Amino acid sequence: ENDPRIVEIASTIREVPNFPKPGIMFKDITTLLLDHKAFKNTVDLFVERYTGMGIDVVAGIEARGFIFGPPIALAIGAKFVPLRKPGKLPGEVISEKYVLEYGSDCLEMHIGAVQPDERALVVDDLVATGGTLRAAINLLEIAGAEVVECACVIELPELKGRQKLEGKPLYVLVESH
Ligand code: AMP
Repeated sequence: ENDPRIVEIASTIREVPNFPKPGIMFKDITTLLLDHKAFKNTVDLFVERYTGMGIDVVAGIEARGFIFGPPIALAIGAKFVPLRKPGKLPGEVISEKYVLEYGSDCLEMHIGAVQPDERALVVDDLVATGGTLRAAINLLEIAGAEVVECACVIELPELKGRQKLEGKPLYVLVESH
């Protein structure tokens, strides 16, 4: 975390107060994506961590997990599995409801996308209350996968998302207070 790349990444994340609701400080990663070096370093930091760890599947959470997950999957030689909002996946799915910082939602995963005992990494842009990551972990574990770790660019530690993961490893680049 004293990697100078992380300091630079943190500086590219835009804070938007009261979006999408009053009282929410939205962490906007689209400004990180505009900075080629910061985007590349973000992916590289995850790739450095997960190369050689025998990860079979990167599960990305809609929508911003679809930005960071695929380049990581390609670089570490894993498949990519999208965890989607309800009604988007055409095949047979399993579903998990969850509550998030602003509202409640549900994630779905295609049955058969993940095989029992496959080693999985869950990727999203940000962990707030941890409800979204918890739902993703549940889906993968229902399918019989072993969730090795969750990886996010940003953590809001005040919201204690880690507690909801019950000891499941969570790796983040930037802690935002
Ligand atoms: P949670 O389930 O509470 O951990 O919320 C995490 C999910 O909601 C992630 O998919 C984030 O993209 C999104 N999210 C929650 N809070 C914020 C925030 N303050 N800024 C940006 N995205 C957020």
